[in-house]
Amino acid sequence: MNPSNPIPPDEPKSGPSNFIRDIIVDDLKTGKFQGRVHTRFPPEPNGYLHIGHAKSLWLNFGLASEFGGKTNLRFDDTNPEKEETEYVDSIMEMVHWLGYDWEGRLFYASDYFQQLYEWAVQLIKSGKAYVCDLTADQIRQYRGTLTEPGRESPYRNRTVEENLELFERMRAGEFPDGSRTLRAKIDMASPNLNLRDPVMYRILHAEHHRTGDTWCIYPMYDFAHGQSDSIEKITHSICTLEFEDHRPLYDWYVEQLGIYHPQQIEFDRLNLTYTMMSKRKLLLLVQNGHVRGWDDPRMPTLAGIRRRGFTPEALRNFCAAIGVSKTTGIVELGLLEHHVREDLNKRALRVMAVLRTLKVVIDNYPEGQTEELDAVNNPEDASAGTRKVPFSKVLYIEQDDFREDPPKQYFRLSPGREVRLRYGYFITCTGAVKNQAGEVVEVHCTYDPATRGGNAPDGRKVKATIHWVSAQHAVSAEVRLYDNLFTRENPSDAPEGQDFTANLNPHSLEILHDAKLEPSLLEAKAGAYYQFERLAYFCVDPDSTPGHPVFNRTLPLKDTWAKIEKRDKRK
Ligand code: ATP
Ligand code: MG
Repeated sequence: MNPSNPIPPDEPKSGPSNFIRDIIVDDLKTGKFQGRVHTRFPPEPNGYLHIGHAKSLWLNFGLASEFGGKTNLRFDDTNPEKEETEYVDSIMEMVHWLGYDWEGRLFYASDYFQQLYEWAVQLIKSGKAYVCDLTADQIRQYRGTLTEPGRESPYRNRTVEENLELFERMRAGEFPDGSRTLRAKIDMASPNLNLRDPVMYRILHAEHHRTGDTWCIYPMYDFAHGQSDSIEKITHSICTLEFEDHRPLYDWYVEQLGIYHPQQIEFDRLNLTYTMMSKRKLLLLVQNGHVRGWDDPRMPTLAGIRRRGFTPEALRNFCAAIGVSKTTGIVELGLLEHHVREDLNKRALRVMAVLRTLKVVIDNYPEGQTEELDAVNNPEDASAGTRKVPFSKVLYIEQDDFREDPPKQYFRLSPGREVRLRYGYFITCTGAVKNQAGEVVEVHCTYDPATRGGNAPDGRKVKATIHWVSAQHAVSAEVRLYDNLFTRENPSDAPEGQDFTANLNPHSLEILHDAKLEPSLLEAKAGAYYQFERLAYFCVDPDSTPGHPVFNRTLPLKDTWAKIEKRDKRK
């Protein structure tokens, strides 16, 4: 397997300089790791990757490749209860989608269970670990607080022999879940709570997605993570800020074991407005049917935003733009959308589609005649060429593009008004037909044959150009319009007594069942990017069937971020 979207060789690998890159440059100068740069991306396979993970991927893969280094993909699968192979498969697929490749260096923390077990025995033998019979609740009570030291477990001073025997019996399955743990013997008075005799192993009679029932004791994440990095000879172990307080513990383990010592560097996790980035909460949205699945285009998962039509290029550009720091902030969703629009503007083919249709009859156009008009595929990219769009007597236009009583400043079609049909002719409205409810159901026009292609030989101007589709040639499609999944900037900020689902946007999805598209879209391939002229960017959904495409609206055309930037520059 290779990346589905290889990164162009001229794209900057890790963006403008940042403090992590400075550390690497320094280490290369001093020869700290003999000139090696080896990073890893360590997801826990308990959910789908999200936009936050893209930042971590971009950093780990980007920095390593910039310095000719390597990046491993390692599944941190120490928790058998929440992990599934479905997640493993999707994570690999999305890493490739983002343009990254682990080049065969695929590892699992569970590959190291035997080694970790032996290291635990080593720590017991050197008097640095003990079997504790306190329950999870008691351990918590004994731990103390930030202001009070903890108390030592009554089991802390068991002999090495007793500990070895009990740990062996834990492994053999003699004790029920939760009845005993193996703990590191560090310092119950340490100001760092992570060093107050942390649990290394717990008993859990659970099937593991890779090791089956081989084990009924499992290492805690903190006992596995640093040593996994050590086994893989990782040089720069890049992780998010909440692990800063765990670093002394990881250091303690590798020092006590006398094994290779990677350097951990913490950075700020990505938070986005209107976006929920916790896998646990995303799982709830899926389980409770608030969305159609992990890859629902409203989800912040990479699978979701890919389906929505966000591009890997846009995501990498966004990561470069937000940079890396040591303080956690919140990034405007508008900035991500700005990068998506900027990228789609270059690559999306322009087409004509009418979402909410209004029939237009051109009374002076010959019955039964069809013309093929030339249309430009992408004004930003001459190599995209042109295509033919059929024109005939009966067309569809957007309901919004006609007003019987036009307000001031409304220059689109209205009785007596002349407008341009994109790539077509000037038409003048002569009247409208209404149904019994008084709604306009059909508009009548005349066209000026001399204006073919959109210009009048006498130089007269019109104030509006509208898009259209020939009724007889139109392809019918389902169109899904998305809005933010949450109504609040911070979706976790729920009203008293309610949870984050109270902030779900009830209008996040609107489905139009009978949009009309120009016929070139009949063959549109799932995943292809389009711009429906004057409307929005769209992406073809995999739910499409032959002859009946389904489109997801990626983003409307207007770019509020660009406006904000302009406004800020003026200040
Ligand atoms: P979540 O809180 O969503 O469950 P996690 O940290 O438990 O995320 P992991 O699977 O452990 O998820 O993450 C894999 C890697 O991605 C880790 O190195 C983690 O630090 C990083 N990561 C996770 N979320 C973000 C984020 N929002 N921004 C940047 N990096 C992140
Ligand atoms: Mg995690």
